[in-house]
Amino acid sequence: MFDVVIIGAGIVGASVARELSRYKLKVALLEKQNDVSEGATKANSAIVHAGYDPEVGTLMARLNVRGCELTEKYAEELDVPYKKIGSLVVAFSEEEMATIQELYERGNTNGVPNQRIIRREELVKMEPHIGDQAVGALFSPSAGIVGPWEFCIALTENAVVNGVELFLNTEVVDIKKENDEFTIYTANPDLETLKTKYIINAAGIYSDAIMGMVGEREFKIKPRKGQYFVLDKSQGPLANHVIFQCPSVLGKGILVSPTVHGNLIVGPDAEDNVERDDTSTSKEQLAFIQHEANRSIKGINYRESIRNFAGLRAQSDRSDFIIEEAKSVKGFINLAGIKSPGLTSAPAIAEDAAKILENLGVALEPKENFNPTRRQTHFMKLTPEEKAKKIKEDPTFGRIICRCENITEGEIIEAIHRPVGAMTLDGVKRRVRPGMGRCQGGFCGPRVLEIISRELHVPLEEIMQDTNGSYVLVGETKK
Ligand SMILES: Cc1cc2nc3c(=O)[nH]c(=O)nc-3n(C[C@H](O)[C@H](O)[C@H](O)COP(=O)(O)OP(=O)(O)OC[C@H]3O[C@@H](n4cnc5c(N)ncnc54)[C@H](O)[C@@H]3O)c2cc1C
Repeated sequence: MFDVVIIGAGIVGASVARELSRYKLKVALLEKQNDVSEGATKANSAIVHAGYDPEVGTLMARLNVRGCELTEKYAEELDVPYKKIGSLVVAFSEEEMATIQELYERGNTNGVPNQRIIRREELVKMEPHIGDQAVGALFSPSAGIVGPWEFCIALTENAVVNGVELFLNTEVVDIKKENDEFTIYTANPDLETLKTKYIINAAGIYSDAIMGMVGEREFKIKPRKGQYFVLDKSQGPLANHVIFQCPSVLGKGILVSPTVHGNLIVGPDAEDNVERDDTSTSKEQLAFIQHEANRSIKGINYRESIRNFAGLRAQSDRSDFIIEEAKSVKGFINLAGIKSPGLTSAPAIAEDAAKILENLGVALEPKENFNPTRRQTHFMKLTPEEKAKKIKEDPTFGRIICRCENITEGEIIEAIHRPVGAMTLDGVKRRVRPGMGRCQGGFCGPRVLEIISRELHVPLEEIMQDTNGSYVLVGETKK
């Protein structure tokens, strides 16, 4: 019998798992995919928002500002790539400067620190490639950028090291409640059912379906798609900050931003009426994004585009995040409708989830041996002496597998054998980056496949590119 079962290992479920791992509780984290961070958490803008955007008095406003502070702290504790580069919301006319003033005032009320309104002269000094029509901006120095999947993986690893049980390939298919006890039915043949006193529903765009398994569907989720360009590191220096346009009813508009690894990201648009698993990209929407982004930053060379992708926002029929015990089912807590700024807010949502459990009578007794830190090897960041020592201890650190990102075989082996180890090509890619570079795995992909096969004793044909079913190889040719 578990005390708490969390459904969904995106950034929200992972944050809650790590938060609860501080306490003497028996906690399980269930994920239907073969890895964590497979939903919206792997496909977003990766911005740690400052918090001027959400309406005053909303959960989003409070949790965004708190989450922004916590992300900086947790990134340090958990060795997650994070840069506090600040954001600029750019106005392209004097009328838009009125919106900038509104955002500034809202930010102050929400508790965003050190914001300033700047005019074109200062803006051009901060961003030499800013569009010719830009007249001014809201500068928020507390905003930043983070590695979203690295954060989710690190939180889960740390939760597991501190005692949380992670069950991958475990799709929840039904939930029954009898007396004060839930039985969770899963599609995992090795597990089938689990019993728990409390459930945390963090299933992203499927959170309404999970709620519907045990009670009334108290809310509806509609996915809202956003598409992107990722450009080569040659384009990264075109922007120094996260550059937003003035927001509209459809969201925060098209942004241009460096990524934590030095690439440039451009997007997203906002498209409603899409299927729950439709992460396709389209020529028309990408052309629109390109056109809009050119207003913000001049001279982006789209021939340097190395990847397009799309993510799905969990837009609910309420305007705010849904963070509450279900009205129709006691002990069932919804963390739903977690659209943007959900990545930023997740660590703060986890604090709220723990408080809800405590208010329901769960004793949050701290573990004496909770370990808040986590580290992994970043070979290229070592000094020449440290590199030589590492290679002497383990010669696999002397073999470069990914030439675009300079990743060694030793780092890949480590990624496979860590507490929440990679089992797929993209799982390795998200942990240590082979395949994230200019060739997108064209050269290193087959080598990484061989390493996974060798380390996990799995035939090559059974290794997935990413989610279940994404086979890479079908069999040998020229037998
Ligand atoms: C285009 C876009 C841009 C965004 N940009 C930003 C940004 O810059 N900054 C920011 O703060 N936020 C941003 N967001 C929002 C942020 O990405 C999300 O709020 C956050 O990732 C949501 O995390 P989650 O854990 O709730 O959901 P998810 O990451 O979707 O995780 C839910 C998990 O539940 C699992 N699951 C579903 N059904 C079941 C089941 N039956 N059994 C078991 N597991 C199940 C899924 O496989 C998935 O892994 C953006 C979102 C999008 C789509």
